[in-house]
Amino acid sequence: MFCEYDLHSHSTASDGTLSPGDLVNRAANAGVRVLALTDHDTTAGIEEALSAASSCGLVLIPGVEISVTWNKHTVHIIGLNVDHDNRTLQLGLRELRRFRDWRAKEIAERLEKAGIAGAYEGALAHSNGTLVSRTHFARYLVEQGLASDERRVFKHYLVKGKPGFVPGQWAELAQAVEWIHDAGGVSVVAHPARYKMTRSKLRRLFNEFAELGGEAIEVVSGSHSRDDYFTMAKHAGDFGLQASAGSDFHSPDNPWIEFGQLPLLPDNCRPIWSDWMIETATSNIRKAV
Ligand code: AMP
Ligand code: MN
Ligand code: MN
Ligand code: MN
Repeated sequence: MFCEYDLHSHSTASDGTLSPGDLVNRAANAGVRVLALTDHDTTAGIEEALSAASSCGLVLIPGVEISVTWNKHTVHIIGLNVDHDNRTLQLGLRELRRFRDWRAKEIAERLEKAGIAGAYEGALAHSNGTLVSRTHFARYLVEQGLASDERRVFKHYLVKGKPGFVPGQWAELAQAVEWIHDAGGVSVVAHPARYKMTRSKLRRLFNEFAELGGEAIEVVSGSHSRDDYFTMAKHAGDFGLQASAGSDFHSPDNPWIEFGQLPLLPDNCRPIWSDWMIETATSNIRKAV
């Protein structure tokens, strides 16, 4: 039994390797009934995903994963059920992509000083040409034989203290929540267990997020352990937040995060989809095993 809602995924519109259409088909074939496309700082893949979803009977939730800087930590805030034509949201995302463009060139310059040439063009070639992520640099460096996998590139080149690291300022937490709400969506703190924060700092984040009107935290995530599910479920309850679930699928090359394998939310959670008007009459979601 797995969770038929998967509310976190990436396509080639950001740092995924499948087109929005292929992503939707893969999810549907794996038994996902409700999928959110949540590319980093863009909604460019939503139209294609919606049309693929209508052909295969999957419910596609228009979403986005917004990059935020909170107390010097990069935090990701997901918007679900957003109107992707909303002007406030689009203006905000455009600023983030401008920062990404500048940062990509800066990363490449720093890598060049460390003896790695052509990284900007290399990363760009792995992207769809409109949004460059550190993941695209990682793929280029793997291709160049500088590391055996993307994780190792991050560890040795792209994180704080390493040659290709560029510090920067993303959106503020309040802005991300505001843009999502302005676009009629609900906001979710993505993969909270992944942030390198103390428990008390993480609780400060949840508290601030709840005070801003944030709705949910991702309790079940492809990047959480089983223990994390229960820890995050408890935090959600403590702050009156709902719970979300998402694989954070990026690529079929990442065998540990596949569609159709997300566990159910722990029983004490209030699922973010509980008041969504979705036809799930035949669904097994959250029925006891
Ligand atoms: P960016 O938003 O461009 O800074 O890139 C962040 C993305 O890089 C995340 O969404 C992940 O997809 C990927 N990422 C971050 N850390 C790692 C890591 N340690 N190993 C592999 N991918 C990572
Ligand atoms: Mn990513
Ligand atoms: Mn993320
Ligand atoms: Mn993600």
